Amino acid sequence: MISLVEAQEIVIGGCEPVAPVIVDCQQMSGRVVAQDVVATEFIPPFDNTAVDGFAVRAQDVTTAGVELEVLGVIGAGHVASYEIGAGQSARIMTGAPMPRGADAVVMIEDATVLSPTRVQINKPARVGEAIRKIGEDVRAGDVVFKSGALINSAGIGVLAGINARKVMSYPKLRVAMLSTGDELVIDGSELKPGQIRESNLTMLSAMIAATGCEVINLGIIEDDEQKLEATLRDVAQRCDAIVTSGGVGQGDFDVVKIVLSRIAEMQWMQMAIKPAKPFAFGKLATSDARVIPIFGLPGNPVSSMISFELLARPALRKMMGHTKNLMRPTVRAIVDAPMKRKQDGKIHFMRVFGEFGDDGRLHVRDTGPQGSHQLASTALANGLALVPDGQGLAIGAEVEVMMLA
Ligand code: AMP
Ligand code: MG
Repeated sequence: MISLVEAQEIVIGGCEPVAPVIVDCQQMSGRVVAQDVVATEFIPPFDNTAVDGFAVRAQDVTTAGVELEVLGVIGAGHVASYEIGAGQSARIMTGAPMPRGADAVVMIEDATVLSPTRVQINKPARVGEAIRKIGEDVRAGDVVFKSGALINSAGIGVLAGINARKVMSYPKLRVAMLSTGDELVIDGSELKPGQIRESNLTMLSAMIAATGCEVINLGIIEDDEQKLEATLRDVAQRCDAIVTSGGVGQGDFDVVKIVLSRIAEMQWMQMAIKPAKPFAFGKLATSDARVIPIFGLPGNPVSSMISFELLARPALRKMMGHTKNLMRPTVRAIVDAPMKRKQDGKIHFMRVFGEFGDDGRLHVRDTGPQGSHQLASTALANGLALVPDGQGLAIGAEVEVMMLA
């Protein structure tokens, strides 16, 4: 057996970022930029008002109660043709460009409208008050995103705001996913003796998509060496990684193992964790001279989910240019229900639900049965508690929890 850390070194260390491409800014949410993004425009592009109110000359409004002439109304998107002179003002709406001559805005709440052309200002004004200056958010020439930065929803807003319509970025990986096992039924038909319903393909496809990848769903592959090899060789030409479920355990000599060993350079691992002990990692050379990783997950649903989290997800993130937070964050939590286990030299990943208490600490309790086939209790978890080797943890003990959501 190897430790989880050793397995992560092999798997994550064995994957490299793929070649960057040019991406439309609209498609950039959740992606990493592969080159500094330099602004060519200012945000805001001109001085404008931060509030609805009256554009004034601060020197005219040094005391409360001053009356001014109102020259007109300036809406956002419109430029005043006039200049504000002594004793004058303009009604102005948030985002509208400041009229020439004005150097402050008094908010509507601090003014009394006397008539369409007269206003009383009920508060002294300061120069620059309620004005958003050109370039206050972003200046032309600024590096708004360094190479390697993750673009979130606000990020695509910024890209749109500086008119960076095309960005050099890591692409969405195309990840092929297949499930193996003669016992699996996927089409909703009645179960025959010995059959079970497929769950991993559905679950892992969702996990791959949530990692920011495009899923190529290959379905369940039957027990046929030629067919599996042909499927894998074919999909390798049009994908960046392959995820398989099932057939990587020690007792297994099914077609997945035979075919993967033949066509790829595989490492069959046994990790000192529970669940998810077996894992296979391999590299497959494609006919277009790329080398793509294969993540061979165990078939037990909980094991496949946890090994995807611990090994495949961080590796896929690295391939998509992520350098930070490859792994999920962990939090020290308080154990609210006993976490029983036996000493076996492994870290146990216990499915838990955590909530922050009045003490500001995360409190966790298990979500139910912890077998590697028991996905229902796993589905209720928002974290995995890393229960160290030993006799388990008592109420009140501290435990490290990997937050899943
Ligand atoms: P394996 O890793 O292929 O030896 O499978 C281990 C266990 O997981 C067996 O009980 C399988 O029936 C079950 N299993 C394998 N693949 C799936 C799947 N796609 N969905 C649900 N259970 C599965
Ligand atoms: Mg199997």
